Amino acid sequence: MSNGFKQLGVPEDLIKGLEELGFERPTPVQAAVIPYLMEDGGDLIAQAQTGTGKTAAFGLPLLTKMDPKVGEVQGLVIAPTRELAKQIGKHLFRYTKYSAKVFVEVISGGEDVPKQEARMRRPTQIVVATPGRLLELLRRKALKLDAVQHLVLDEADEMLSMGFREELRKILHLANGRKSTWLFSATFPEAIEELIQGCMKPGAKRVTVDAAHVVNRDIEHQFAICGRGDKLEFVIRFLRKQEGERGLIFCRTKAGVITMGRQLGTAGFAVDVLHGDLTQKERDKAMRAFKKDRVQYLISTDVAARGIDVEGLSFVLQHQLPDQMEYYTHRSGRTARAGKKGLSLTLIEGAERRKIRKLEDELGVRFEEVG
Ligand code: AMP
Repeated sequence: MSNGFKQLGVPEDLIKGLEELGFERPTPVQAAVIPYLMEDGGDLIAQAQTGTGKTAAFGLPLLTKMDPKVGEVQGLVIAPTRELAKQIGKHLFRYTKYSAKVFVEVISGGEDVPKQEARMRRPTQIVVATPGRLLELLRRKALKLDAVQHLVLDEADEMLSMGFREELRKILHLANGRKSTWLFSATFPEAIEELIQGCMKPGAKRVTVDAAHVVNRDIEHQFAICGRGDKLEFVIRFLRKQEGERGLIFCRTKAGVITMGRQLGTAGFAVDVLHGDLTQKERDKAMRAFKKDRVQYLISTDVAARGIDVEGLSFVLQHQLPDQMEYYTHRSGRTARAGKKGLSLTLIEGAERRKIRKLEDELGVRFEEVG
């Protein structure tokens, strides 16, 4: 099986761990960052939010740079909250299920300090910590940062807005023997740029991954091959199986939306339409009816669907692929909100298979073919 992580330079034994987690294709931030960190490993500034796969983007290179024979802390990850620190620690542990053991400790607030001190007496290569508690353990001499080679600042903007500027300054100073600093942040306000100037080399590599590339693992992506003339029948069959579930249907054009609305209405479904030729009043009415559940399925163009935020949509049905690929993320993102599961099903013609492969590569998701 071809695994995209191999091309990025990730060693085989780590890939085995990733496969078990269902990571087969790298996400865009992983594809952009991993080769650089593996080979060069110098300073990095990455704009990426939670959900883009950033943990593996820094975690995999970090793991490969650790020397398990040396018992000192060589990698340090700083994160704003205990939940995030724990999650990072857990993920690093899982990636190494089949590789040489790199010991990772999480030091975060809310836990017993003496217990954390005791844990730090064991050989440890990577520490994942929240800033305040890390400083407390440093004061107690429970650990040293002299041997730290690579320092990761995760969600740096969050750390600054939580008031950790001074703590970060101290930590950066205590780890000043490091070779590199890797900073991840969703936003870049002035305070972040100042932090960057204070702790990084001017030639640091910059990488940006936009919000459209967030991995929502709760969306199931499917496609079905369906000739143009068979699509209506397919849609009707699909909707009949939905029972009480609500969903959004996308068509590429206004005319397509209107025709589909008429056809599904005739077939007895509670549908309404949304497209650019409607007045604001008509749109509001359609939206209200949909939100209040008087309409079960809403049929829309991409532009008219902007701003639709309806909870509890269990599926998005795409009558064709969108014109622009980035609309795929917007369309499918209407389902699987707030931690719920959702289905995004796209009807394509045979020749469009390669477009599905392209989406898989670009978005780091897998499509299942259904009949
Ligand atoms: P993160 O942004 O690191 O918090 O990751 C967000 C979610 O995406 C987590 O649940 C990861 O397990 C998942 N994830 C990260 N990378 C991949 C990948 N390449 N393939 C599938 N899922 C991934």
